[in-house]
Amino acid sequence: MKVNQAEIVISAVSPKQYPETDFPEIALAGRSNVGKSSFINTLINRKNLARTSGKPGKTQTLNFYLIENSLHFVDVPGYGYAKVSKTERAKWGEMIETYITSRKQLKAVVSLVDMRHEPSKEDIQMYEFLKYYQIPVILVATKADKIPRGKWNKHVSVIKKALDFDPNDDFIMFSSETKMGKEEAWQAIEDKIRD
Ligand code: GDP
Repeated sequence: MKVNQAEIVISAVSPKQYPETDFPEIALAGRSNVGKSSFINTLINRKNLARTSGKPGKTQTLNFYLIENSLHFVDVPGYGYAKVSKTERAKWGEMIETYITSRKQLKAVVSLVDMRHEPSKEDIQMYEFLKYYQIPVILVATKADKIPRGKWNKHVSVIKKALDFDPNDDFIMFSSETKMGKEEAWQAIEDKIRD
């Protein structure tokens, strides 16, 4: 998709605020610092429309972006902050679970993991959760530019093994630095929207 138009529609604190539109939605999830904002900005050709909230405690909103007046990206707050309280973590879990299990417009979740590292426990939980609810997943391995080409395969297989990756899901190596994977990611998203 060639994107000229993208805008934030709402930072929703509660489901009542989710847009009442029928646009297909693609949610994006990953641990904080994985490169999720960079991924969104790369796909929509912006430098900084999507921003990390930066601080734990500001993690309870779903940010809806309207793209080309035809689909929503739904930015899910990053997980994995060490300092977040149990109560906050539970609230986060509840919000995500409610959205993912009940939102009719949701077509797929882009699940981002850092290509340099073995997936964290939370990365694995997120993937298992999506599989359990039979949500189509587009797995994006970020920061590919930080890994020498000769080691790509090794890193990909470590990630797939840890996640018990379903070969029916898309797996995309991505870099916001080199734009590697950008077209592939759009292709995967467009396929999910059409399904
Ligand atoms: P978020 O917290 O998941 O939204 O992560 P950000 O997009 O804010 O990125 C976190 C940090 O990783 C920033 O310093 C980015 O510049 C860096 N980063 C993100 N994507 C890439 C990438 O593809 N390659 C490299 N080398 N750095 C990246």
